[in-house]
Amino acid sequence: MSEKNVNEIYNEYVERIVKEGAENETVRIALGRAIAAFRKNRQQALNKYPHTVVMADEVRRIKEYSIEHMEELVDKACEAIEENHGHCYKAKNKDEALKIFDRIIGTGKTIVQSKSLTAEEISLRHHLQEKGNEVFETDLGEFITQLLGNRPMHILAPAINVPREKVAELLEKYTGEKIDHRNIPEMVNAVRKILRDKYFNAHFGINGANVISADTGSMFIIENEGNARLVTGAPPVEIALIGMEKVVPTLQDAFKTVEVTWRYANYKMPAYLNIISGPSKTGDIEKVITYGAHGPKELHVIFLDNGRTEMAKDPVYREALYCLRCGACLYECPVYEITAGYYGKKYLGGIGTIWDAFTTVGFKESAPMAYTCLRCGRCKKTCPLKIDTPKMVSKLRNDLKKMGLVPEPIKMFAEEILKLAKEL
Ligand code: SF4
Repeated sequence: MSEKNVNEIYNEYVERIVKEGAENETVRIALGRAIAAFRKNRQQALNKYPHTVVMADEVRRIKEYSIEHMEELVDKACEAIEENHGHCYKAKNKDEALKIFDRIIGTGKTIVQSKSLTAEEISLRHHLQEKGNEVFETDLGEFITQLLGNRPMHILAPAINVPREKVAELLEKYTGEKIDHRNIPEMVNAVRKILRDKYFNAHFGINGANVISADTGSMFIIENEGNARLVTGAPPVEIALIGMEKVVPTLQDAFKTVEVTWRYANYKMPAYLNIISGPSKTGDIEKVITYGAHGPKELHVIFLDNGRTEMAKDPVYREALYCLRCGACLYECPVYEITAGYYGKKYLGGIGTIWDAFTTVGFKESAPMAYTCLRCGRCKKTCPLKIDTPKMVSKLRNDLKKMGLVPEPIKMFAEEILKLAKEL
């Protein structure tokens, strides 16, 4: 099959974003409610803990330093992880990462997974399933998305576009039991029941991390549901997939980074903050250290590059690596408000366009998204680190122009505007 040109990609994208996103009344209603609630909650969280805003400036400096020294910090984190009796790997790209997973997991295994955008970036679940493994997403939204056969529609709330009636219908189909279509707690309980024994019967638990400290090799995972602690605690082997940009120099830096992340992600305090530095161990019998006391016996940590070192070399695109994935910008974006996750490929929104260009689909496939962004700047204003997404999108447009990858309808539109301007 011949490769699609940029005009075909653009036309398909416009059709999808309009039909499935903008013209879908259910998506618009669900998003409208979620956006209003998010903005209110975030303001309340920042009002209650006003130091967060000042700390965000400090975290910006931490991230600037960390990205400048990313490779060196990853090496340092690896040393610490190995000192803590874990195994550390560095994967240059998606294929290398998947091969490492294959070597550790093999086939015919049961795997539980907690929410990870980095896993989504390399299509990890699909790959492991193709290799003959059974994989369960355990974040509630991700589980719904998995049942739907869809992809996540928001960084924090993957099933933001799915109304309760649809969730009940999916669960009824899965369990064969009747579920009240209005009763959300009943739906949550049904998922709890489905997944409960999966954690304890799984051979592997796979997780991501919000941040990792280079000095101690400690991964921080913010969560509310409690699934990440079961994923990282119950199976005998834990595998963490972590983007290289998540590393910061010290444990204190990591604490500051996660606090700013959850506040801007609209939480005063998340229900759980997990910190994992190595496999489970005990020295309770004659002070002989034995691994796998109650938690995993083995910990494998895979650092993923996949375009990150390239991004870090560019003075403009580098800023995308500062992203904490708090999701605040998506709730502020006027385009996302009407299109949901159809505005993006693996990553979403304006910042997601830059991520997709470097890590998943490449520049050509990202062209339609670059021209979807209005460059209104509302994302920059709301971002804790003041990441200048409009500036990055402008650079991407210039680079696309140089590569001859501007879609024809965009060129025609630009010519029309120019003509009108001359006539005025
Ligand atoms: S760009 Fe800023 S607001 Fe958007 S997810 Fe990243 S850190 Fe949050």
